[in-house]
Amino acid sequence: MTVEDNEQIKNSLTENRWFRLAKDQCLNSLHQTRFGAVLILKNGKYFSACNVEKSHPLIRKHYDFFAVSLHAELNTLLRVNVVRHRHQIAGSTFYVYREDRNGWLKPAHPCSSCLSIMKDVGVRKCFYSTPAGYNVTYL
Ligand SMILES: [Zn+2]
Repeated sequence: MTVEDNEQIKNSLTENRWFRLAKDQCLNSLHQTRFGAVLILKNGKYFSACNVEKSHPLIRKHYDFFAVSLHAELNTLLRVNVVRHRHQIAGSTFYVYREDRNGWLKPAHPCSSCLSIMKDVGVRKCFYSTPAGYNVTYL
């Protein structure tokens, strides 16, 4: 793939408002591997975050590996009051975007721990970037 191909794919991907927002979050990440995520609730309200290099009690509770970083998806969910918004999270949609420090679009498929937390709170779909554009997982 050429630099031009990559730019063209990124441009068409970010014509989508949610991928654009996820990309903005990704570019905010100070982590070596940058991820950005957006969660859109059923009422249209949305929350977004990038991955950060810090731990959180939920990481130990839910992640089956020792993680020193807070994944963008969990970081996003931590911004939502999942109890108060539970009816809005049921059936909601995630967008996850990843690009490396050289600007190459990368696969952003969520890890199994993030997917299981998403599923627990009722997220229905997760769109994520791939080098060729995007893909979607149904939970
Ligand atoms: Zn994860």
